[in-house]
Amino acid sequence: MTPTTDGDGTLAEIPLSALEHYAYCHRQTALIHVEGIWGDSAQTVRGDLSHRQVDLPGLTRRAGLTTIRSLPVGSAVYGLRGICDVVEFAGTTATPVEYKVGRYQPDGPADLQLAGQALCLLEAGFDVPLGYIYSVAERRRHPVTISPDLLHRVVQAAEAIRGLLASQHLPAARNDTRCRKCSLRDDCLPDVTDGRQTRPAADLFTPRPLGQWRD
Ligand code: SF4
Repeated sequence: MTPTTDGDGTLAEIPLSALEHYAYCHRQTALIHVEGIWGDSAQTVRGDLSHRQVDLPGLTRRAGLTTIRSLPVGSAVYGLRGICDVVEFAGTTATPVEYKVGRYQPDGPADLQLAGQALCLLEAGFDVPLGYIYSVAERRRHPVTISPDLLHRVVQAAEAIRGLLASQHLPAARNDTRCRKCSLRDDCLPDVTDGRQTRPAADLFTPRPLGQWRD
């Protein structure tokens, strides 16, 4: 798949974090990367705190393994850029490790972000057969095979995100279980922006009974 360029031939860069947002919710991607909205929740604050160590750039060498923290990477071919939490280098093999505060979800949104990092490292000339998601909640690494299928999904998602950013269009809210954990829920208002129901505008200003609020 050839990435779509702007009229002047430039390729709009997609942040690697947007890959995870897109896999989680298209509307969340647009809220963050088009509208510039960001909301903190207990989960995002925990994430920031647990990232403190890996956010400090640094390099260590031990027994043939070079570990670099907070490594900027990019792909000129696919228009991606971002920062890897940790990359371990052994010879020509690079292994990205992405830190996540919650429990690991196999084949979940974090895998796509990790594979985006892998795509950048592949373009830089390294072999990247494997990456890891480190779950802070579980205190363990989960291996993720960097398969051709996963890389293809990254390219597809990057192209779809580029289209979303160019259109400046907010997709309808999904209004499902994911919204309960979403830090943007108060800005998104999924109950009234899911496109499934039409309420009179006055309803927006009528408080619902306490029992119906989702905590
Ligand atoms: S509240 Fe739901 S629909 Fe809205 S951005 Fe979050 S996950 Fe997406």
